[in-house]
This record gives sequence, C-alpha cells and structure tokens, in this order.
Amino acid sequence: MAEKRDYYEVLGVQKSASEDELKKAYRKLAKENHPDLHPGDKECEARFKEINEAYEILSDKDKRAKYDQFGHAAFDPNQGFGGGFGGFEGFGGFGDIFGDIFGGGFGGFGGGGGRNPNAPRKGDNLRSNVTVKFEEAAFGVKKDVFITKVEQCPDCKGTGCAEGTTAEVCPDCKGTGSVKTTQRTPFGMMQSTGQCPKCKGRGKIIHTPCKGCHGIGSVRRQHKVNVSVPAGIDDGQTISLRGQGNAGANGGPAGDLLITVLVQPHARFEREGASVLLEQDISFTQATLGAEIEVPTLDGKVKLNIPEGTQTGTVFRLRGKGIPFLRSTGRGDQFVTVRVAVPKSLSSSQKEALRQFAASLGESVESKNIFGKHKK
Ligand SMILES: [Zn+2]
Ligand SMILES: [Zn+2]
Repeated sequence: MAEKRDYYEVLGVQKSASEDELKKAYRKLAKENHPDLHPGDKECEARFKEINEAYEILSDKDKRAKYDQFGHAAFDPNQGFGGGFGGFEGFGGFGDIFGDIFGGGFGGFGGGGGRNPNAPRKGDNLRSNVTVKFEEAAFGVKKDVFITKVEQCPDCKGTGCAEGTTAEVCPDCKGTGSVKTTQRTPFGMMQSTGQCPKCKGRGKIIHTPCKGCHGIGSVRRQHKVNVSVPAGIDDGQTISLRGQGNAGANGGPAGDLLITVLVQPHARFEREGASVLLEQDISFTQATLGAEIEVPTLDGKVKLNIPEGTQTGTVFRLRGKGIPFLRSTGRGDQFVTVRVAVPKSLSSSQKEALRQFAASLGESVESKNIFGKHKK
C-alpha cells in the first residue's frame, strides 16, 4: 500500500477533536463506506479498513497519545515500540519500565519514604480495544488481541541477576530504598527522607546484571490474547480479563487486561440496547393496497405483512429478532419503520394511470407538460 495517511485526516477531524467528535466522524464515514453497501468495490473496502484502523487507535487514549508523539512508527513492530523485546529501546525507556514494575516509578519512594521496594506489588492494568462487526457484537465472537505486557524475566526469574549471582542488600539503606538525611537549619536540625542514592531506591545492588533484562527483572513481550466477546455486548463496553495485565513485582499478582469493544456500524441496522432498528422503504401502492414484503434481520430475510392503508412512519415489531441479552437468555426485538417512497421515474402510461386515479378523487394535479418542466 502507498504511504499511510494520517489518522486524523482519514477521519476528517482536527487533532484536537474530542472523543465525541471522533466517534461521530467515525460512525458517519464507516456507514458511508460500508462494504455491504458497495459490494465488490475494493477501493471502498480499503477505505473502510483504514477508517476502522484510525478509529481503533484514536479512540484509545494511550494509543492516541503515542500516535500524537510518534506517528505511525509508534505501532510499527519493526520500530521496537510495540513488538518483540521492548527493553530499553521500548517506549519511554528505563523510567517507564520501572514505573510499570514499581508502580509510579522512583518518585514514589521519595517524600514519605515509607514504601518498601521489595514488598509485593500488583502489576498495572493494561487497556486495549477490539473492533467487532455489528453481527459479531450481537452473537458473540472470538478475537485475537495483541498486547505488549511486562512479564517476569524468564532468564533470572525476576531477580535481575545473572545466573549464579545474587544481589547485595544495599548497605546504605539496608534494603529499604530510602535514607534519612539530617540538615542543620536556622530552626534547628531538620530530618528528611529521600530515595537512597546508592541503589536508586531499589534496596539492592546488582553487580552482575542478567543479560536478558539488563538487571530490571522484567521484560516486555508481545502476547496474543484470544478474547471471547460475549453475545449482546454493546459499543464502548469493557471486557476485563483478570491477571492478564502486567506482571506484579516481588511475587505480587499481575494486573488485569481491560478490553474495550468498538462495534462497527451496520449498513442498514441501528441499535438501541437490545433493539434493532431498521428503516424500510415501501412503495405508495404497497402502502395503499397492502403487501407482503421482505425485510433483512440478523437472522436473514423475513416476511413482513404491510396492511392496507399503512401510513409512512408506521413502526412494526418483529419479536425476538433483536440483539441477544448480554449474559442472559432471550433476545430483544426488531423495529421496522416504513417510509413510503414517492416514485421518481414513471413511464408515461404509468403517469396517465395516476392522473386517472387523481381525477377519480377529484384532485387537481399537474397536467401533461410538453416541455418536461414544472411551473413554479
Ligand atoms: Zn533477567
Ligand atoms: Zn540503598
């Protein structure tokens, strides 16, 4: 494919666009370019894909921030941002990794100085998006989600030390990671607690760092997670997978993986909770004389009886043809709003028949106009 277009440009919004503006722009474009409305149109299909990709990134706060900073390179596995071994080249580098492991980074050990760097700590939660089709949200689907997460280094089992070596407890702070300093001030002696400068708050000194993790004790790896998207899930809802987030430190539990579901708009259906909404054109004669028509549902086409004298805007209910209830049994309904379409191109004999019909009602209508133009 040619040069990747800017995601904001793809969605036709400003860089400063709010979440709402993004969503609106996305829904409009996704509907216009929906492949179901343009079967066989490869260009349209590519555009639809591009729109979905752009929205998937920009609707995720973290990913949007990364994109704003690094552009498309932020998501290119060859650039070392997302895939494979992140390590030091990875995003944010050293500080970020420590932040992930120790929660809040070195800053957290300053000030109060109360936190023991070797106490068990829960890993961070991770967030990601998954895009599903309208039908997939209705009936459920399994999707692969790729995430980069921090996990215990398999080489050193999290100690950060090369094989056969151990870490030394920091002699300056005795392993607490923080030290008290006393200063003489005009008001007397002042004591403050700060990060231990010798071990930089880690409480230990690693003389021979593990090669696999450079002494950090953890590595970033890309994982494929097979997510079960439950039937009935709606746009914006989150699936949480316990313990699938970043690894904890010092034997603490892993964080959770929170996956927000983005539902692509459907070419014809709208959704409101468990209801499926459809607008269906019928002809003037079908509305007048009544007819049996076919309408699409999530289960395929079904017959719908239009009674004689149906007005435009009439709503018909198809029971049980809506969205399955989330984590429950039963389904919502489908509501079909009929619109009486006025015919645009009639033959002259058809027009003549209508004129006779109008005459039978005593209505005045435009008579035959040889110039084919309407008088104002
Ligand atoms: Zn290691
Ligand atoms: Zn120390």
